[in-house]
Amino acid sequence: MSQQVILIWYRNDLRVHDHEPLFRALQTQGQIIPFYCFDNREFGKTAFGFPKTGGFRAQFLRESVANLRENLQDKGSNLIIRCGQPETIISDLVKDLQITDVFFHSEVTAEETHVEKELEKKLTNYGVKLTSFWGATLDHLDDLPMTIDELPDVFTQYRKRVEKSSQIRASFPSPDRLPSLSSEINCGDLPTLEELGVKTPLKDERGVLNFIGGESAGIKRLSEYIWEEDCLKVYKETRNGMLGANYSSKFSPWLARGCLSPRYIYDQVQTYEEERVKNNSTYWLIFELMWRDYFRFVCLKYGNSVFYQTGLQGVQIQWKEDWERFKLWQEGKTGYPLVDANMREIAKTGFMSNRGRQNVASFLTKNLGIDWRMGAEWFESLLIDYDVCSNWGNWNYTAGVGNDARDFRYFNIPKQSRNYDPKGDYLRHWLPELRKIPGDLIHQPEKLSQVQQKEYGVILGVDYPRPVVDFMKSIKANEKLQKSQ
Ligand SMILES: Cc1cc2nc3c(=O)[nH]c(=O)nc-3n(C[C@H](O)[C@H](O)[C@H](O)COP(=O)(O)OP(=O)(O)OC[C@H]3O[C@@H](n4cnc5c(N)ncnc54)[C@H](O)[C@@H]3O)c2cc1C
Repeated sequence: MSQQVILIWYRNDLRVHDHEPLFRALQTQGQIIPFYCFDNREFGKTAFGFPKTGGFRAQFLRESVANLRENLQDKGSNLIIRCGQPETIISDLVKDLQITDVFFHSEVTAEETHVEKELEKKLTNYGVKLTSFWGATLDHLDDLPMTIDELPDVFTQYRKRVEKSSQIRASFPSPDRLPSLSSEINCGDLPTLEELGVKTPLKDERGVLNFIGGESAGIKRLSEYIWEEDCLKVYKETRNGMLGANYSSKFSPWLARGCLSPRYIYDQVQTYEEERVKNNSTYWLIFELMWRDYFRFVCLKYGNSVFYQTGLQGVQIQWKEDWERFKLWQEGKTGYPLVDANMREIAKTGFMSNRGRQNVASFLTKNLGIDWRMGAEWFESLLIDYDVCSNWGNWNYTAGVGNDARDFRYFNIPKQSRNYDPKGDYLRHWLPELRKIPGDLIHQPEKLSQVQQKEYGVILGVDYPRPVVDFMKSIKANEKLQKSQ
C-alpha cells in the first residue's frame, strides 16, 4: 500500500500539544502537511453590520498562526498558510500534493460545519478520506453519560451527571519530531492585518493583560497564573473581579483559538492539587471549563436556534432595534458607570470580565429592551476571546431566551457596582471624568448635587451623561412588555 499523505487542517485548534489529528497522523508513518487558511468570510460583516473579526482578535489570531508555524518548524515540519476559502484551497492542494487524507477537529455551529460539508462535497470526487476528531472540550462528546438529545437544559443537572460518571481523557503527547515538508511546497506568507482588511488596533495600557496569541504565550500565561503567581488557590474568591491581570485566569483567548487545550489545563490543575493545594478554587476552574463544554454541547443539540432572536427556547419578545441607545451602550455613555466602564474597556482592549459581561448584557436587554443579537454581534466583533458557543450561549442566557429561560431576571447595576467594585477603583480606571468623585458617590453620579458636581469637576450632561433611562422604571416597563408576549 502506498504511503498516506495527510493534510492537517488547522482551525480553532492552533497548537501542537494535545492534538489528536496530529498524533493520529504521526502514527500512520505517512507524510504530514499542516495547513491553515484565513477564511475571508470570517473577515466580512455581521448581520447588523459590524466587522465580524475586529482588530484585537485578528491580531491575536495572526500571532497564533505565526506561533503555530514556529512550533511546527521546531519539530522539523512547517505550516502552509493561505487566505481564501478552505474548501477550495484544500481541493487545489489535494490535486497538487496527492493528498490522501484530511484530518481535522470538527466544529458544531452553522458557518463552521458548512465549510466541513462543502469540503466533503468537493473531495468525494478525488477519493480523499476526511477524518474528523472531537477536541475542543474537556469531556469528550463520546464520553457523555447521555445522548446529545438528552442533554439537560439546566447546567447543574448536566454537571452533576458528568461529574458522577465521565472520566476526562488523557492528553495526547506532543510529538518530538514531525516529518519534514518537501522543499518544493510554497508554504506561503502570513497575511498582514491590512491584507485581512482589518485596522491595527491601538494598544491601551489600561488593559488587564498584554494578550499575545499562540500556544507558547498561552502556556506561559498558564505557568505564570498557576505556578509562578500561585493564583489558582484563591481563584474562587477573586474570579468576580474586574481590575488587573490575576483576578481570573485570562485563559479564554487561548482556549478560544485552541492554543491551549482544556485537557492540558486540567492536567496542570491536577498536578497543582497534588503538589500545592486542593480546594474549592482548584475545583472551580474546572467547574468553569465545564460551562464552556456545556455551551458547546448545547449548540450541538439546538443547532441554529442559538442565533435566532427567539433563542434556544423560541421565546417571542418584541425587542427594539434602537440604534441611538445602542450607540450609547457601545460607546459607554449610558450614565451608568459600571456599564460605561466595561463598554469602554471592551472597545479599547477586546476584553471584559465575566462580571462585566453579565452586567452590560443585562442592561442592554432588561433596561434598554434592545435586541440581544445586536449585543452578541458587537461582542463577536470585539472580543479577543470570542468563541461562538460561549458567546451566543451566554447571550441567550442573559437575554432570557436560553434553554432554561424562566422569569424575568436582571442585574441590579448600581448594587452590582457597589458589591464588585466597592471602592470604585475599576470605575476610576476606565472613566477618568469621574476620578475625583470620592467614595460611594461614584456608583451613582446622577445623585450629585450641583455643588458636588462643581467640586468634583463633573457636570452632569456635560462631562458625564445623565442615566439614559431610570433604572427601576425601565426594568418594570421591559418586564411588562416581555411578559405580555
Ligand atoms: C454575554 C457573555 C458573553 C460571553 N462571551 C464569551 C466568549 O465569546 N468567549 C468566551 O470564552 N467566554 C465568553 N463568556 C464567558 C466568560 O465571560 C469568559 O469566558 C471569561 O470572562 C474569560 O475570562 P477568564 O479566562 O479569565 O475566565 P476564568 O474565570 O478564569 O474561567 C476559566 C475559563 O472557563 C471558561 N468560562 C468561564 N466562564 C464561562 C462562561 N460563563 N461560559 C463559558 N465558558 C466560561 C472560559 O474558557 C475561561 O477561560 C461570555 C460571558 C457572557 C456573560
